[in-house]
Amino acid sequence: MRGAMLHAPGDIRVEQRADPKIEQPTDAVIRLAATCVCGSDLWPYRGIEPVTGPAPMGHEYVGIVEEVGSEVRSIRPGQFVVGSFFASDNTCEICRAGYQSSCIHRELMGPLGAQAEYLRVPLADGTLVATPEVPSDDLVPSLLAASDVLGTGWFGAVAAEAGPGKTVVVVGDGAVGLLAVLAAKQLGAERIIAMSRHEPRQKLAIAYGATDIVTERGDAGVARIKELTGGLGAHSVVEAVGTQESMMQAIRATRPGGHVGYVGVAHGVTLPGEELFFSHAHLHGGPAPVRRFLPELIDLICNREIDPGKVFDLELPLDQAAEGYRAMDERRAIKALLRP
Ligand SMILES: [Zn+2]
Repeated sequence: MRGAMLHAPGDIRVEQRADPKIEQPTDAVIRLAATCVCGSDLWPYRGIEPVTGPAPMGHEYVGIVEEVGSEVRSIRPGQFVVGSFFASDNTCEICRAGYQSSCIHRELMGPLGAQAEYLRVPLADGTLVATPEVPSDDLVPSLLAASDVLGTGWFGAVAAEAGPGKTVVVVGDGAVGLLAVLAAKQLGAERIIAMSRHEPRQKLAIAYGATDIVTERGDAGVARIKELTGGLGAHSVVEAVGTQESMMQAIRATRPGGHVGYVGVAHGVTLPGEELFFSHAHLHGGPAPVRRFLPELIDLICNREIDPGKVFDLELPLDQAAEGYRAMDERRAIKALLRP
């Protein structure tokens, strides 16, 4: 089959890879309907995370089950399924508490390489959620968004305790930040302030329910949030970038007693203990337990109540994955969908 491989920073190639096979009796193999490039794929692509030789890429996937192992009970060939970036058993104590991305048997999907024609999914019964029927093609981008960016933005909003009566700030205007806006809206937030200086992203944020746009960042951004919230700061702040500046912006934009939901993968973030101590902010986040939210998100998408697939503003054949990476790296595209 064909699949994307990262050879060195900036060097993505789609080439022949071995066809995935059932290796464990709990595995499934799916034929991908669509996959995509993640903001987090850009960290190794930019060389900020080390690249050690050719590595398969991609961890966002939807598709049709081709084959299942002998111990798979609930997932069947022919089903259309959505999974997330960690495989999980969905039965251990951590999974049952809703933290499937810390499952005691978790397996990271990235190294299996979802930017490909086929994908092996471990722990298929726990990891995959089937749609009620094979969806029409126009729903595929939204279901693919549920695989990571929607589930991650949703977790950010839940971790920030977005809800009725709350003012929610979203730091970051990538796909996750934009979908955190959508999530905050669905969760009933009263006011949603998106921090973005890019016009197409501001428009999408507004379409997803943002009530205010703040273009300033850093200290100036914090000052603007304080101005908009009677000097107090927001009840809920979603951090969807992962840098020192964005994390401090999120904490400083939160009112005492408020909540920060941080879902941007942290790179070089160091928190000053004393400032944290006096901030009275709750911090909750980490790799999103997307699996917790998948059944609800799939319902909302299949009932056409939400349209998270709009974050894909570039669609390419898998063979042109390199162009998808370049477009996202240069911020010409919010998110690139790849059709195998
Ligand atoms: Zn588990």
